[in-house]
Amino acid sequence: MTAEHTELEAEWARAIKALGGATEICLACHVRPDGDALGSMLAVAHALRTAGAAGRTPPASPSPFTAAVRVVASFGDRPFEIPRILRFLPGAELLSPPDRFPERPQVMVTFDAASADRLGVLEPSAAAAEELIVLDHHPSNTRFGTVNLIDEAAAATAVLAFELIGRLGVGITRDMALGLYAGLVTDTGSFKYSSTSPRVHEMAALLLRTGIEPGAVARELWDRSPFGFLGLLGAALGRARLEPAAAAGRGLVWTTVTRADRAAHGLAFEAAESVIDVLRRIDEADVAVVLKEDDDGCWQVSARSKGQADVGRACVALGGGGHRLAAGFTASGPASDVIAAFCRQLAIVSAPAGGR
Ligand code: AMP
Ligand code: MN
Ligand code: MN
Repeated sequence: MTAEHTELEAEWARAIKALGGATEICLACHVRPDGDALGSMLAVAHALRTAGAAGRTPPASPSPFTAAVRVVASFGDRPFEIPRILRFLPGAELLSPPDRFPERPQVMVTFDAASADRLGVLEPSAAAAEELIVLDHHPSNTRFGTVNLIDEAAAATAVLAFELIGRLGVGITRDMALGLYAGLVTDTGSFKYSSTSPRVHEMAALLLRTGIEPGAVARELWDRSPFGFLGLLGAALGRARLEPAAAAGRGLVWTTVTRADRAAHGLAFEAAESVIDVLRRIDEADVAVVLKEDDDGCWQVSARSKGQADVGRACVALGGGGHRLAAGFTASGPASDVIAAFCRQLAIVSAPAGGR
């Protein structure tokens, strides 16, 4: 057993103890949640509802709970809106807007947030929580919890949420499985990315045994768009630029999706999210970047690497976070300046070994 493994085991024990002694558990995932953030959180919310319902727990059950538990689940976006593609997930009734989130939670759990600022308007609640359990898989995680359940080797936060539910002694229901499966397929790109491991497929198999339909989940997540999306995609692809010299000569392709593009077709911010999946195909570029203008006029930047460039380090250097091959940051100013700044960071992190 490695030292890291022993340390993580100790963190799990502390997490279960803190949850078991709580009368109120507050859950939060990162802002503008993706399938991993919201899916993991909703799965755990369902599980806590089951495990924490005092009186319904048979005496022989392994549930750690000693009292009835109130569960609050939210994310720190104002306005508070569930992204359209995630509305099929069961458990919307378990969510409350951030204004109703306790200011000083007894026990708070965060999902898929690499740093406290990713909690948006719920960041002060995290800072004031008596116990803060951080469930995450980003290498860039700042370990901002009192208990840090961070496993970089996990393909998704959903893997950790699955583990947590098991350790709470709760059996996986169909509702929980849908959330966890959404997390798993979102973060592995439907089992396409290199994070896809035997363990990922084993977990997927267990989830599918609850009767959820993978085809229906995929359709909800990726195969639906209003007609106006074609106009937005056309505009974004039409102004894509290739920078062959970027990323140490391995090439970078980038484009923007502006508020004007979205307004022209009556589309919300999330309509811009899938554009990166077209750009990242381009053979001439190891790196793909999409600058998505949000409703406040800031650029929410998505970056992807095919394997050579560490876009995670470049994004962290610019105040963002993420993984080696998929990361992001927030910026403002002219798009060409933002790309220039990103290319400078890429040049630093892509410098040949010993070159710095
Ligand atoms: P996305 O491009 O939004 O799919 O995000 C890719 C990865 O980068 C995810 O792991 C995100 O959590 C992370 N990420 C995206 N935007 C930011 C940001 N502004 N700050 C920190 N991490 C981010
Ligand atoms: Mn996420
Ligand atoms: Mn994730």
